[in-house]
Amino acid sequence: MQPRPAPDHRPQEILADAIGRFAPGRVAISFSGAEDVVLVDMVHQMGLDVDVFSLDTGRLHPETYRFIESVRNRYGIAIELVMPEAAAVGDLVRRKGLFSFYEDGHSECCAVRKIEPLKRKLATLDAWITGQRRDQSVTRTSVPTEQEDTAFTGNNGALIKFNPLADWSSVDVWAYIREHGVPFNPLHERGFVSIGCEPCTRPVTPHEHERSGRWWWEDSTRKECGLHAQNVVKMVG
Ligand code: SF4
Repeated sequence: MQPRPAPDHRPQEILADAIGRFAPGRVAISFSGAEDVVLVDMVHQMGLDVDVFSLDTGRLHPETYRFIESVRNRYGIAIELVMPEAAAVGDLVRRKGLFSFYEDGHSECCAVRKIEPLKRKLATLDAWITGQRRDQSVTRTSVPTEQEDTAFTGNNGALIKFNPLADWSSVDVWAYIREHGVPFNPLHERGFVSIGCEPCTRPVTPHEHERSGRWWWEDSTRKECGLHAQNVVKMVG
């Protein structure tokens, strides 16, 4: 299958605009350790420089940690690992154990391991850049390439979220990865498509939607971990 023609707003143009519009250190790529590395590669190819951070929940696959390290080495960049508060994790685990999300949903654990760390990081920024695409799930069908983030606040209050790959399909992403020899998480070769924490991610079959392997025991219309909570608000509100 051939990649689709380039859309009107190429991701590289959106990235260059996002990086040029804000002071260094006030805009950053949120790298999830899956195929978001396309964004890192594009910035590298354009000779630009931007901060990169990744949420380390403490529950990622070993392959993901090694992949993050390979990206760091390949592009010679620092990747900031943003971690949850030890006391909050300790309290959750002490009260409810390590797998409470299978019993009463992922919200509480994601709030501790993902949302609080992300909120803390975004409070230092004016804008962030994500790899969200419209074809990823039913919660992302109207994701724009640039939006005001209504779920979080930035350094001065307002926060802009750029989604340079919003127009791209999975086919486009993988065509880019192959064409440019971009490193990718080896879990993709074992049936994993959308990769998050190890206990909450499983491989999907060819006919399943790509995020159906995330929190597979929950309702598909609420499958956001809170990083992109405004997507869910739009669906159910
Ligand atoms: S994805 Fe699962 S393990 Fe990771 S923070 Fe959310 S509930 Fe916890």
